[in-house]
Amino acid sequence: MAHAHPHAEASCKICAEEPPAALLAACRAAGLRRTHLLRRVLEILQRQSAPVSIRELSAARGVRDDCDPATLYRLLQRLEAKGLVRRIGLHERAAHYTLRRGHHHDYVVCRECGDVALLDMACPAQKLEREVGRRTGFKDVDHELQFYGVCPKCK
Ligand SMILES: [Zn+2]
Ligand SMILES: [Zn+2]
Repeated sequence: MAHAHPHAEASCKICAEEPPAALLAACRAAGLRRTHLLRRVLEILQRQSAPVSIRELSAARGVRDDCDPATLYRLLQRLEAKGLVRRIGLHERAAHYTLRRGHHHDYVVCRECGDVALLDMACPAQKLEREVGRRTGFKDVDHELQFYGVCPKCK
């Protein structure tokens, strides 16, 4: 899993934009090594409000020539396991990733092609969360909602 960065950390030309320190601190606290790949992935996810597919990530500048798909996939799995990114979608190839932010979005996933679309409406589950909290005594109730269907392209 070791990943050799071709540049010295301070002089990296690829990383025009640094991921926010808070995000890197969270990764460090989660025991993730601060590799070039980690910074690059965080930077891409940070810039995109929509979920990014693993295919797009592996084709991105600074990732494509720099690591093999298995390394990228393992990093994403670790980020997901540590609760730093959320995985959306179906099978491995069609998996999409997005940073966990202060607020969340809900999505609809195409059963055919694996495309992910943002649900552009008020969260339908907020009332349900309160109800779940009330009935179970749980605090900080959260949800991840994915609808499934067939997208207009595949219809
Ligand atoms: Zn589709
Ligand atoms: Zn929601």
